[in-house]
Amino acid sequence: DHSDLVPEVIDSPIPSTTPVKSPALLPRLHLIDEQQKFSEELSTYIKQKWDLKEAGFNYNLAAVFGSQSTGKSTLLNRLFGTNFDVMNETARMQTTKGIWISKGRDMKVLIMDVEGTDGRERGEDQDFERKSALFSVATSEVLIVNLWEHQVGLYNGANMGLLKTVFEVNLQLFGGNRGKEKTLLLFVIRDHVGSTPLANLSNTLRADLERIWHGLSKPEGLEDCKITDYFDFMFTTLAHKLLQPEKFESDVDKLRIRFTTPSDPNYVFQPQYSKRVPADGLHIYAGGIWDKIMTNKDLDLPTQQELLAQYRCDEIANAAFATFTEKIKEFRQPVESGNIVEDLGEKMQEIRGTAMKAFDKDASRYHAEVYKRKRSDMLAKANTMLEAYFLGQLKNLHKKAVNMFSSNLQQALKIEGSDFATVVAESKTEVLDYFLQGAKAIKLEETEWTYEEEQFQLERGLQEFAIAQREKELNKMLTSLEKHLRKELDEPVGLALNNPGPSMWGRVITIYQRTVEDAETLLHKKARTFDLNEEEQGELIVNLRRQAWVLLTKKVQEESVDGMLLLKLRSRFEEKFRYDDQGLPRVWKPDDDIDTPFRKARDETVELVPLFAKINNVDPVKGGKFELEPTEDFDFDQSLKVLSETRQQELTTKFKRESDAFYLEAKRSVVATQAK
Ligand code: GDP
Ligand code: MG
Repeated sequence: DHSDLVPEVIDSPIPSTTPVKSPALLPRLHLIDEQQKFSEELSTYIKQKWDLKEAGFNYNLAAVFGSQSTGKSTLLNRLFGTNFDVMNETARMQTTKGIWISKGRDMKVLIMDVEGTDGRERGEDQDFERKSALFSVATSEVLIVNLWEHQVGLYNGANMGLLKTVFEVNLQLFGGNRGKEKTLLLFVIRDHVGSTPLANLSNTLRADLERIWHGLSKPEGLEDCKITDYFDFMFTTLAHKLLQPEKFESDVDKLRIRFTTPSDPNYVFQPQYSKRVPADGLHIYAGGIWDKIMTNKDLDLPTQQELLAQYRCDEIANAAFATFTEKIKEFRQPVESGNIVEDLGEKMQEIRGTAMKAFDKDASRYHAEVYKRKRSDMLAKANTMLEAYFLGQLKNLHKKAVNMFSSNLQQALKIEGSDFATVVAESKTEVLDYFLQGAKAIKLEETEWTYEEEQFQLERGLQEFAIAQREKELNKMLTSLEKHLRKELDEPVGLALNNPGPSMWGRVITIYQRTVEDAETLLHKKARTFDLNEEEQGELIVNLRRQAWVLLTKKVQEESVDGMLLLKLRSRFEEKFRYDDQGLPRVWKPDDDIDTPFRKARDETVELVPLFAKINNVDPVKGGKFELEPTEDFDFDQSLKVLSETRQQELTTKFKRESDAFYLEAKRSVVATQAK
């Protein structure tokens, strides 16, 4: 108890000499409370109340140590413009236990006020002190050790016990990191009267520290380690606040420079003390450490750093990813509905770039290896999501290319004399170029995406399409050719058969030959358009000839059905019997011989039946017999047959019966004339 040294004044939390820009006090946080619970609000304070969200590594963390009521909180408030509780002298109340944290006014420094105790005999307090020390060493760059001048040299004093704890836990934490991770211990000697110079005081302290260090039980393998492997030391004094108030204030002002001015030779926040925890991850790191301390687990700091990095990198990646997925949504509908999205490659590249940049900005501050791993995870994930659009657009490009190719071919086939093979080759080059250009534009760097398979499929598809298209167009052409043939054959053949006689079949054969020749000429003309080779042409012509012949024989059959044929016979008979040689209708007189002309006309007509019975295939122009090669379902000889024996007899009988009627009619007409 230092009540003898404590004034009657209630200390103001705002030091008069600190430049005050805003009267509002910076909020402080009860980081670890009396129940030893770690606050859930650290992140909110860092981001919102202290404005350190974007600070990254650009902030520092210090903690103060020392026995109770040695003016620690008073000093912090003066130094940093903070608002830590100071023991109220009138009420003499113990300030709240635990660890408080606040931010220095107008400086990016976080300060932890660790409420010490004097009740070292009480086990629970000793336990909390140890935990606080462990926590402070693991998180802070600088530990301010606060002590009265008269405590210096009191080796067994409470302060020394605390330091012993600090050293022990530090060895436990950083033992393996000898010389790499250092912590600065800044001894602030209070109520310095001035009779003992700082040099003497610091020597005494150093000797004490060495003594403590020597007495520590060191972990295996570190038996010979030195205190300076782990700690740097600084010593300073402050005048008595009550006896020399002005000197006290100016001492504090001088001390502040060490915390705020990197160019100062005594600047405390040297890079080697940094714990490499970005501001936006401090809550995770510090919380994790407190958790380990509470559960009494091994506080493996490198592991803590990695865990922090993993946690934070995931968090940062998720945030970046949320924006990323939102942005790439716009491609979904157009790509799925078969459209080709303009500048898809550039847009994907940009969105991915923005996401990676957002990730890099915050995540690159964390454990390098973890960051690198998480980065490639994120890139892979982004690429996987984008690949769907890459593949979708590739498919659409493929479809579009086929459509272009198809309309090119159709266009070309419409043009008389166009060269199918050339059109196919040129069009193929054009649409493949189109496809490749589109594909290259959407293949992003740092991906394994390929379009070669799709390209291969496209090329094969085009080839197949060209073949099918040619087939289709060729068939169309052949169908219209057939129509043409029928038109050319039907009427002339009908006419020829309606004027039966010995030259009838010769005329029919001539009609056939002429029609087929016309069609062949047309086919030859189309040969280039359809890229027909000699063999194909030959085959088509053979088919054409057969087809024309089949059409012709069909027409012949039509003309030879009973009714049609009887009509032909009757009209020939009438011609002969009812008309005279001049073609005038005969009027029978009583003396006329009806029987002879009747018999003559009937016999001549009946002779036509065997003529109709079989096509006479003698070519009257070229001479010789006209013939066609038979096929499986085409028998040329059979095709020549028109009327069977039976049908010939039936027709003859039918005709004769009909002719009898004419005979009777002729006879009756004579009787009728006589009766007049
Ligand atoms: P803490 O418990 O170490 O945080 O100490 P406080 O800052 O609460 O101060 C405890 C008491 O010491 C208060 O009454 C302060 O007014 C007083 N005090 C603060 N600084 C000094 C100082 O430099 N010298 C003396 N003698 N008293 C001080
Ligand atoms: Mg205090």
